[in-house]
Amino acid sequence: MFDHDAGPSPTLEEAIAELDPLVALMSLVHLTGDRSLLDLYGPALEGTQKVVRAEFVPSTRGREVRVADEGVVAEIQARLLEMLQTNATPLLRTPDSALFQKMTRLCLGFTPAQASLELARQQAGFLVDTRVRRPRRAPPEDFKVLVIGAGMVGINAAIKLKEAGFNYTVLESRHEVGGTWSINRYPGAAVDTPSMQYSFSFDLNPSWTKYYPRGPEYLAYIKQVVERHHIADRIHFNTAMTGATWEEARKLWVVRAVQDGVEQVYEAHVVIPAVGVLNRPKKPPIENREAFKGPIVHSAEWDDSIDPDGKDVTLVGVGCTGVQIAAAIADRVKSLTIIQRQPEWIVPNAEVLASVPAIERWQMENIPYVAQWKRMQSIAPALKSAKGMLVIDPEWRAETGGVSRLNDMLCDIGRDYVRASFADRPELVEKLIPSYPYFAKRPIMDCGYFAALKKPNVRLVVGELAACEPEAVVLRDGAVIESQVLILATGFHLDFLTNFDIKGRDGKRLREAWSPYPYAYQGMLAPSFPNFFFTCGPNSLLASAHSTLGEQQVHYIVELLQTMIDENLAAAEISEAACADFNRDINALLDRTVWVNKGDAHGYYRHESGRVVLGYPRHNSLYWQELRSPVAEHFILTPREDPVEPERDRALET
Ligand SMILES: Cc1cc2nc3c(=O)[nH]c(=O)nc-3n(C[C@H](O)[C@H](O)[C@H](O)COP(=O)(O)OP(=O)(O)OC[C@H]3O[C@@H](n4cnc5c(N)ncnc54)[C@H](O)[C@@H]3O)c2cc1C
Repeated sequence: MFDHDAGPSPTLEEAIAELDPLVALMSLVHLTGDRSLLDLYGPALEGTQKVVRAEFVPSTRGREVRVADEGVVAEIQARLLEMLQTNATPLLRTPDSALFQKMTRLCLGFTPAQASLELARQQAGFLVDTRVRRPRRAPPEDFKVLVIGAGMVGINAAIKLKEAGFNYTVLESRHEVGGTWSINRYPGAAVDTPSMQYSFSFDLNPSWTKYYPRGPEYLAYIKQVVERHHIADRIHFNTAMTGATWEEARKLWVVRAVQDGVEQVYEAHVVIPAVGVLNRPKKPPIENREAFKGPIVHSAEWDDSIDPDGKDVTLVGVGCTGVQIAAAIADRVKSLTIIQRQPEWIVPNAEVLASVPAIERWQMENIPYVAQWKRMQSIAPALKSAKGMLVIDPEWRAETGGVSRLNDMLCDIGRDYVRASFADRPELVEKLIPSYPYFAKRPIMDCGYFAALKKPNVRLVVGELAACEPEAVVLRDGAVIESQVLILATGFHLDFLTNFDIKGRDGKRLREAWSPYPYAYQGMLAPSFPNFFFTCGPNSLLASAHSTLGEQQVHYIVELLQTMIDENLAAAEISEAACADFNRDINALLDRTVWVNKGDAHGYYRHESGRVVLGYPRHNSLYWQELRSPVAEHFILTPREDPVEPERDRALET
């Protein structure tokens, strides 16, 4: 058997021998183009599908997994080996919908709802071009599009705008691309969505070294994507947008920015803000802060001059970031005191820290379509209904007082995990069990946090930071904790775009329109702000990995832009009525979720106004469907005064 940990590359035979037979069959179908193989071998592999777990949902139901018939497996392996030894080029690249459904059913062991299938076909990486609209005209050179931000979503937008032929420029306030993953450099920073799905479907990475990569590996991936797609020359680095004003007469945006301290003005027909969601650090008020002798650092402002090694460190906050930091530094510091305002739901996941075995990487890198089908397996849980997790079941509530059978079961699993981990520490068990429903806040995968809490130099204190002394921090209850370094893992403000001076039609300011809280149509468009198509805005998140949501939204924007070009439109603005309808539906759904019925949960799902503004409360397949094509009736459309000749571009017609 191949040594998973080290050593030379496996032979092809070894790699095939260790490949999931279902994935081997999928690869064979791609290589041969022979769909009858599914009928030939499929029945013998039925029931051998692994139960795939989602990152925050431990497998709760044990389904018996059959062992595949050895003879059939050997035959598949032999045929795959033969094809690969002759360097065969795959004859099937993109399975049609019916074939994809059949392959998916066999590979995953269930048939996703029709609404999820086409989404999955794209997300698994079988379709690079997702466009619905067949362009009638090439975008003219003088139609300018400005993207703000070169994080994951801004880069996605740049690539898709380039592919569609738009003249675009990206402004990025930092010196490099990567956004979240360039900014967050704290110890232990890591992705908590499986890497298989937290990456672009049009640029899969078969070489992840971890199932949940660390920040630097993810940043490196984003930089490689930028290189592969040759978009760096369109990005203006160190250039921060400060505001933008819509000029109704000229039907364009005048965007103000500062580049290396010098003010700049850009003009663009369309602005696509992709400035992210979680990036303005939220810092608690600290009395006497300046008296503290050591560094006080927010997790998102970490720099390499901060050295916690061998010191007394106080860490405030136990969200995703706080637990990652605690796990990463517990062994390095003299003492670590963790200040917890409220416990979190923490779930075990063996893959969080695990490396992808070398042989699995080799399989994905070298055997055609293994990466795509493994990605399919990874997104499988997201293709199922998530209703019971978020939405209150009225009958269950009347009977038990709980949320739903599933949500309550997940709470039980969380409680059991705490109790089993700290059987001899009842005081810790009490501190660590939340009293609010699962998913009322983002659950956390245990990345070594509980192990850190068991160390003799680590202490968990329930309280709130209030003040500093020169060599200590003081909690609201008066407790004094000796400290040399104070780390704030206290999260971010949910600004959306209200921290910029955005002035739309008739001088309407976005921050006023969004007071007391931000709201939008599909999380992307706001009335009075024509040609301003933002990404990941209010109520458009959490339904899926951010990478998936970003791709859906960028797709929608490209469809909208192409519509503007084809239909000779100068401006597209969402109507008040469409926006109000969308929000009425969303609010009705939100009212039944644990995001609203949150018990005593704090957290960033809610805006300062108290409204839940982050999450999209429906299944992502619905969101995906709604973003396939813009609905013309939902818009106020203004034709160009100088329509471009209706003559069709022959090249695009073929
Ligand atoms: C620590 C951490 C871990 C996370 N882990 C996950 C995860 O595992 N899974 C998941 O789905 N999501 C995760 N998220 C959410 C994450 O932010 C998104 O997944 C994703 O990175 C957002 O991409 P984005 O391009 O929209 O925004 P960002 O990555 O925030 O990028 C925005 C970019 O815009 C730039 N910018 C901002 N303002 C301006 C301006 N005025 N002018 C010019 N440029 C500007 C910024 O410098 C930045 O480069 C995490 C967030 C954090 C903070």
